[in-house]
Amino acid sequence: MAGGGRADALRASALRSHRGGFALVVVFLVVAAGVAGVGRLYYDGEQASIVAQKGSELAAIRNLKIEQIGQWREHRLQDGRIAAKDPTVADEIESWLSRSPASDDAEARLAGWIAAMVAERGFVDGIVISADGSRWVTDGSGRGPDRAARAEAERALGSSDATITDLFLDPDTREPRLDVVAPLSGGTGTPVAVLVLRCDPAIELYPLIQAWPTPSATSETQLVRREGDSILYLNDLRFSKGAALTLRRPLEAQSTLLASRAVQGVTSVVEGVDYRGAPTFGALGRVPGSTWYVVAKVDKDEAFAGVFATQRTTLVGVALVVVGAGLGIGMAWRQRAAAFYRSGLETERAARELAQRYDLLSRYANDVVMVVDASATIIQANDRVQAVYGYSPDELVGVPLQRLYPPRSVGEAIGDVESLRSTGVLAAERTHVREDGSHVEVEIGARAVDIGEDAQYLLVIRDITERKAADEVLRETRDYLEKLIDYSNVPMIVWDPDLAITRFNPAFERMTGRSSDEVLGQHLSVLFPADSREESLEQIRRAVDGESWESVEIPILRADGQVRVALWNSATVYAPDGRTVQAVIAQGQDITERKAADEALRARTEELAKSNAELEKFAYVASHDLQEPLRMVASYTQLLAKRYAGRLDSDADEFIGFAVDGATRMQTLINELLTYSRVGTRGKPFQTVDLEGVLGSVLKGLEPAIAQAGAVVLREPMPTIVCDPVQLGQVFQNLIANALKFHGAATPEVRIEAERGEGFWTFRVRDNGMGIEEQYFERIFVIFQRLESRAEYPGTGMGLAICKRIVERHGGRLWVESAADAGSTFVFEIPDMREGEQHG
Ligand code: ADP
Repeated sequence: MAGGGRADALRASALRSHRGGFALVVVFLVVAAGVAGVGRLYYDGEQASIVAQKGSELAAIRNLKIEQIGQWREHRLQDGRIAAKDPTVADEIESWLSRSPASDDAEARLAGWIAAMVAERGFVDGIVISADGSRWVTDGSGRGPDRAARAEAERALGSSDATITDLFLDPDTREPRLDVVAPLSGGTGTPVAVLVLRCDPAIELYPLIQAWPTPSATSETQLVRREGDSILYLNDLRFSKGAALTLRRPLEAQSTLLASRAVQGVTSVVEGVDYRGAPTFGALGRVPGSTWYVVAKVDKDEAFAGVFATQRTTLVGVALVVVGAGLGIGMAWRQRAAAFYRSGLETERAARELAQRYDLLSRYANDVVMVVDASATIIQANDRVQAVYGYSPDELVGVPLQRLYPPRSVGEAIGDVESLRSTGVLAAERTHVREDGSHVEVEIGARAVDIGEDAQYLLVIRDITERKAADEVLRETRDYLEKLIDYSNVPMIVWDPDLAITRFNPAFERMTGRSSDEVLGQHLSVLFPADSREESLEQIRRAVDGESWESVEIPILRADGQVRVALWNSATVYAPDGRTVQAVIAQGQDITERKAADEALRARTEELAKSNAELEKFAYVASHDLQEPLRMVASYTQLLAKRYAGRLDSDADEFIGFAVDGATRMQTLINELLTYSRVGTRGKPFQTVDLEGVLGSVLKGLEPAIAQAGAVVLREPMPTIVCDPVQLGQVFQNLIANALKFHGAATPEVRIEAERGEGFWTFRVRDNGMGIEEQYFERIFVIFQRLESRAEYPGTGMGLAICKRIVERHGGRLWVESAADAGSTFVFEIPDMREGEQHG
């Protein structure tokens, strides 16, 4: 009987121990899942915010590019239309085609007209071809019509409007070209000839496409079109020089190639690969009215540099916490398994202890068991005391129980003995002292037992040092998690399946202006503004049903009534059955400011594009509408001066002189205005340049002016920097010419200096001339602004304005330091750039 009972007790205790182990595994899994969940949320939040930001940046740039390219095409078409409508040309064409004696003259005039068109509007060459194709006139380049031009001419005869062809490779030079084709009508109004203007996209279109508004190592815009089963790249690429119209990639339906997706009509921001196969993030779109598609992209490595760093730290953090939790729980498990085993034996022992005390005591190996008498003197102890206390069982016999307590806890010892005596039981956790003076944490369970006549007490003492340490690790793990949530700058919230808020971290308090005391236990709906509440709750219910979100925008109502937009991510926490939802943990990020900033950026980009377009329009008006009549006035007044000088009276000679001067001056003004407006659009891509050479040739050109002024020019060695050499030459040229021009009474002395700064170079052009009063410091940089007192000096007032625009295109600043009669110093800074970088 007795043996069977012990076996049952042992089985029962093993079963309990098994269950306890299972519970600890569940605890560990929940802790690990919690840590991983928090880490995941944090990482997702970071990633989502970087992806969203990059995406809207790329989309803004794609829109800008599409608009600029569209405008560029429109302007080329306008060039064609204006030529086609020129009434004087109709007459010339008629007489050219008439084969009359005047035909040769007309041909020469036509050639002049084409040449002017080509030069003014930046074409490579031009040709007029008669309707039957038998005759043609060129701008003097001598090149006859090639096959492409003839085919286009034939097509143009059928239409009344100018057209623009697609990009193609010039068969002779193998360079990309594009033709503007305009039918020309004679007097009758039907087309009798066709004008073909050939355009080099490298002059204006490609720089326009290549310019990128922010410094970046991998960003670029790609222009592509579809050709049969392949995609053809239309512009030169950052990592594939000479790609324009030669680089092809197959067009495949499932392809992740961005260009391929663009051609298939995708117009959003997507992830994929570029022509090198590099993982890429890009915005796609189509240029309306053309066969061209645009891809504005940046390498994922660059775009997500921030994400990768976050990913690494999150992974390391999560791994550390999970390993720590695992260790702690492992220790607790060991302790617990032992405890259950022991308590099984204890049950059995309790049944037999009175009869077989001695036997029982020696059987016990894991716990200290001792018997004390009514005066708390130890009568007997088992072998275990040796391991726990360092005393042998015999040494302890006759020793008062208080000896096991540290001296400072004598009161505690007396109390324990007292309560044993009065109540017959004791259960307590205590710090005891070993023979060697060190401390041991123990759990005491004691009760009065009936052995013999005197009252005696049986004490079971368990060493719980290990268990306490395990508890400590668990507590620290939990604290770490709590702190992670509390100190996180990411607003985090937890709610239960009934949508009651169960956790509300300080970051969430800051975002909403509500304290956690106020919202804990409340229904989630208190956080939402009335008008979007139902919709938001609907979304939340879906999360409770197990759907986890990625960056859902849900508005939040702050305590002060303000509505903020937040980006939410959530993760669902399941019960160990893996199905029942226990809680949803979500992270809400306030993106109100970011949205506003995105909107502002978009508006600014739009405004910039608009003002660029206006400037271009202005240049267009200046070149087309003003230059033409002005040339007339200038040439005829010059003719007058030539033929009639001395043949009219002296007043007339003088008046003609004024007219010639005026017209010439006006031409200079307009040319400078054009230069000004083209600083941004006609600039060359930046390259590495030794400014020594640039400055050298500028000074060479200025030699006559220097000699005439009797000036001394001193120069410091110039550095090698990344810039547009033609434009920087122009800056030096204008500043030095001004220094020579506005000299004072002393021998003019000009110093050109260069100095290295943090991340940029500073250049100075100093003179000892007449100086400038401070009140004019701003004004002199404005177009056409000159100081009235300087009326006797030639000039247009455009020079400094052009310099300023050039320096700003390079991302730098230009200003003047001066005082009247104290000389002037014009200072400009150019930032250090890497080749290929562009500003604006
Ligand atoms: P311009 O030289 O054609 O008049 P700029 O734009 O180059 O036009 O200069 C604007 C005005 O700034 C000049 O008319 C002159 O009054 C003043 N200025 C420019 N450079 C100097 C200088 N080195 N010393 C004194 N005044 C200067």
